[in-house]
Amino acid sequence: MKVLKFGGSSVASSENINKVITIVKESANSTNVAVVVSALGGVTDLLLEAGNLACKSNELYKNRLKTIEERHLQVVRELIPVNNQSSVLGSIKKKLNKLESTLEGVFLINELSHKTSDKIVSFGELLSSFIVAEAMKYSNLDVILKNSQELIVTNENFSNASVKFEKTSSNIKDFFSQNKHQVVVLPGFVALTEKGEVSTLGRGGSDYTAAIITSATNSSILEIWTDVSGMYTANPKFVRQAFPIKNISYQEAMELSHFGAKVLYPPTIQPVLEKEIPIVIKNTFNSKAEGTLITKVSSNKNPIKGISHIENMALITLEGSGMVGIPGFSKRLFESLSQQRINVSLITQASSEHSICIAIDTSDAEKATLVINTEFSYEIEQHKVEPLLVEKNNAIIALVGDNMKSHQGISGKMFSTLGKNNVNIRAIAQGASEKNISAVIAHKDIKKALNTLHSAFFEDQTKQLNLFVVGVGNVGSKLVQQIKNQQQYLLENLKIQVRVIALTNSKKMLFNEDGIDLENWNVPLENAENLNMDLFHAKVTELNYRNSIFVDNTANERISGLYANYLKESVAVVTCNKIACSSNYSNYLNLKSLAREYNAPFLFETNVGAGLPIIDTLKNLIASGDKVTKIQSVLSGSLNFIFNNFNENNSFHEVVQKAGIEGYTEPDPRIDLSGVDVMRKILILARESGTKLELDAIENDSFLPQSSLEAVSLADFMETLNVEATHFNKIYQNASMNNCRLKYVAEFDNGKAKVGLKEITSDHPFYNLEGSDNIVLFFTERYSQQPLIIKGAGAGADVTASGLFADIIRIGNN
Ligand code: ADP
Ligand code: ASP
Ligand code: MG
Repeated sequence: MKVLKFGGSSVASSENINKVITIVKESANSTNVAVVVSALGGVTDLLLEAGNLACKSNELYKNRLKTIEERHLQVVRELIPVNNQSSVLGSIKKKLNKLESTLEGVFLINELSHKTSDKIVSFGELLSSFIVAEAMKYSNLDVILKNSQELIVTNENFSNASVKFEKTSSNIKDFFSQNKHQVVVLPGFVALTEKGEVSTLGRGGSDYTAAIITSATNSSILEIWTDVSGMYTANPKFVRQAFPIKNISYQEAMELSHFGAKVLYPPTIQPVLEKEIPIVIKNTFNSKAEGTLITKVSSNKNPIKGISHIENMALITLEGSGMVGIPGFSKRLFESLSQQRINVSLITQASSEHSICIAIDTSDAEKATLVINTEFSYEIEQHKVEPLLVEKNNAIIALVGDNMKSHQGISGKMFSTLGKNNVNIRAIAQGASEKNISAVIAHKDIKKALNTLHSAFFEDQTKQLNLFVVGVGNVGSKLVQQIKNQQQYLLENLKIQVRVIALTNSKKMLFNEDGIDLENWNVPLENAENLNMDLFHAKVTELNYRNSIFVDNTANERISGLYANYLKESVAVVTCNKIACSSNYSNYLNLKSLAREYNAPFLFETNVGAGLPIIDTLKNLIASGDKVTKIQSVLSGSLNFIFNNFNENNSFHEVVQKAGIEGYTEPDPRIDLSGVDVMRKILILARESGTKLELDAIENDSFLPQSSLEAVSLADFMETLNVEATHFNKIYQNASMNNCRLKYVAEFDNGKAKVGLKEITSDHPFYNLEGSDNIVLFFTERYSQQPLIIKGAGAGADVTASGLFADIIRIGNN
């Protein structure tokens, strides 16, 4: 014989029940089967809600009842041939009437005991098993319904009753030895006490019913049919990359289920383990999938089999000098908890015995506080023990595997992985059997913790980078294009998967948790929600992806003011926006220290020389112990372009206009022409060289005439370039007469920086600087005679985007 158990989602609708029937038929071809069913998906919760509402004299319980009724009647109408419906519907109504009067009773007396609650929830399985058996009758199966309440006997611990095995086993054996039918359908979860009162086996208990029947009948296998294709390496609803574990031992399955892998109710293993009957977990909605086989020993030698977690944990700390070396404290603590039926999920105590820390379900926190503070009231009054500290919103996360004890380094890897991703660990427990290592973390970190651990222990080491890209103007759209072109290469060659999770322009913001399609983002962005940077931040934080990177492609001061908020969430910042690094020194320093503190890179290579590796080179020099003595540079691609093109055949005004059109200047060319942009760049280089410097300490000898400097609007400013043509022509002619070329030079020497237009003689390295190129000469202790020179295209959307991209890849390679 085989036992097949179908969970709530497998019997949630007529469509699903038809799938169940197909699966049962296949098995029934070769052997007798017992089919254990849960209540229709969601019905147990509805029943509990109805009970709680009735108990609070809330008439809304009737709505719940109505929903329950409608769902069952609908399934019958869809499954049972019309001519046979009336008797089935009649029986269902009869059961529902009984349920209704129980709820009415609760409503009247305002009292809901565990015992009455069990009576109410039992209707879920009683109804579902009846419907499934009826539907099978009309599908040519030789089927009988057997109420498992007549077989399973429990104690009176209502809502989570313990099975009396001797009586139960003999009932089951008796029934099945006489059964002549091919298929027996039984309700899961429900039972009776010796006095004949309704009890239940605990939430998720239908699995247990099935295991008890499997064991008592010595069946060949227990099949748990559910809505996922097996027991996964982690809850698939949280970890997309999780996959079904092919084979796992009873012990491992038990640990995983105890630590939250809801797919199997923890007590289920015990009855079948003793007889070494295999369990297989299968997917009703994908019956061909192999599923998970649970046996005595697993053929899978990986020391870690899975990662699981329990939500809604409260961390409770009992602490005080009066506890040290005095026996009996733990006993009193645990006794008072157990008297209140409070289950303890994790315990840690430091060897100093100064404190004991335990994790319990949050719903028990209030009760626990009360009993423990009462139990230790004397010691608290005497200041030997502190009042109990309760911290909610926590979770337990656990690594599980039989072979962990013979592998060193697993806990090291676990904690360093969590640490690197800024998941704070509040408490740790590892049993001496080393079948699991558990840690208490904040609820908000669950998804990140599961995913980082999963990636570290189960995935080939592809690193996923999650980009939140602000600005898709010239630079931003080029960046998106470059990422698109390079995605496959990075994945195959560097094992870096780059996903753009969010994109914004100045009006809209588009999010896609699976990664935005980079072929086609324009239209979705136009149709996306309105830009709101507060909401944007809230979403990035909520997604809480590891390796999140905030990419700023704007020149906007407001956006640069947001970096600290991202770094504090361990989100890296990559930016071509110079404002942050050239703002006041304390802000620059603060961002750098946040980056260190939160382990979130803050990279701005493109702040100086677009894609040229200037800052990175400087960083490497400093990190390796070199000291910068002097920097000479031409750092404005825009000004270089302008002065390379300005000659006797054109006007300064024309050339500036042309530079704007070709994208060589900032949208407002005054930022370039005034020298502010170059001041910012030399400031950043000075700071990166280790000098404390402010923007207003930089000497700026402007080549602009007074009227240009005083112009209010951009249009006025452009007009002054026309009006002052003689002024500009003279600058050119002077240089030309001296056989010099004009270069806008930024210098840093001996702690001081200055910028200004200079006449450069033909023997100087700046003389032949073409187009919009940049050049930097680093004079350092090591490069004291001949400077280290970096030269190349220093402006333009393409090279800036590639510089941003290089920063992103730096994070990936880290
Ligand atoms: P059923 O109603 O069939 O008994 P459950 O909802 O009790 O189903 O259990 C199945 C669910 O368990 C899955 O949908 C999944 O969300 C959850 N789950 C949690 N951890 C795991 C895991 N490690 N592997 C598979 N499923 C898991
Ligand atoms: N219906 C019960 C529950 O939802 C038992 C089960 O489905 O296993 O907990
Ligand atoms: Mg279940």
